[in-house]
Amino acid sequence: MSQETTFTRRAGLALGLCAAALPWLPAEAAPLAYPLAPVEIAPRVWTIYGAPEPITRANGGAIANITVLDTSDGAVLIDAGPSHRYGTALKALAERLTGKPVVQVYLTHIHADHVLGATAFDPGAVSGGPALRGDLKRAGTDLTNGMYRVAGDWMRGTGVPEPGRVAEAGVETIGERRFRILPLAGHTREDLCLFEESSGLLFPGDLVFLDRAATTPDADPERWRGALTTLSEIDHRLLIPGHGPVEAGRRGIDQTRRWLDTVEARIGDGFSRGLDVTELMAEPLPDWTTGLAVVRYEFARSVMHLLPALERRDLPRCTQA
Ligand SMILES: [Zn+2]
Repeated sequence: MSQETTFTRRAGLALGLCAAALPWLPAEAAPLAYPLAPVEIAPRVWTIYGAPEPITRANGGAIANITVLDTSDGAVLIDAGPSHRYGTALKALAERLTGKPVVQVYLTHIHADHVLGATAFDPGAVSGGPALRGDLKRAGTDLTNGMYRVAGDWMRGTGVPEPGRVAEAGVETIGERRFRILPLAGHTREDLCLFEESSGLLFPGDLVFLDRAATTPDADPERWRGALTTLSEIDHRLLIPGHGPVEAGRRGIDQTRRWLDTVEARIGDGFSRGLDVTELMAEPLPDWTTGLAVVRYEFARSVMHLLPALERRDLPRCTQA
């Protein structure tokens, strides 16, 4: 477990209030710090689990799983977390766990909870899919602004990462490890998956959620299902989902597909019955989904963008009729 000193935001605020009342103490709140708690999931491989929650000011956006792999050439990271503050703590943790510098950070996709910590690393050691650098140039400021609004002071000092290299399809060897790069899509327009062949660890990014409802605001459900089929054909030993527990087997792949099917069917059915957004958000969900974290929250988000898409497709503007 991590030996990091941790302060909750509540404790930090409390300290700040005390400081205001006591003139001999500094007048600033204690700096926020992420309680990074690495779990060794395989020999010399550690996952820092994200909270099964939406991004909030309490969790500072630390909701995605981040993994550190030791290699004879240095530490390799899968994703970098939500902020510069997180990335800085992650870098120190990875160096302490492995006793080596971080030589490679693979970013799986553009979502803030996975990429914004990358500013803490040498850009030459940060890789993404072919479109990631350009996408971050275009959308990175909106991404960081949104995170500042939602997560607040945790984001201080966070800018837009500029990945210095592209991870192309194929195999990249780092030390004794062999990372097979799988450029897929569906959760976003570019999802970089990795399969570390020497350990059998499969990193599907956010193409797989487990025991947490998947996020769909940038999704293409058809492509996503195709990617899940590709992932299900990989003979892996452990699957490290973007969010949720690490497990052997294909439960995460199957559950993510089932969630996509459920969301699309519910929203399609509601649309055909003429429900509006708020009515559809209140629709019951099948019993099996009660085991998923943030299920109503994610269903509501899915309604907000999938319903308008159906309306655009099937209800032409009267000026076009
Ligand atoms: Zn995502």
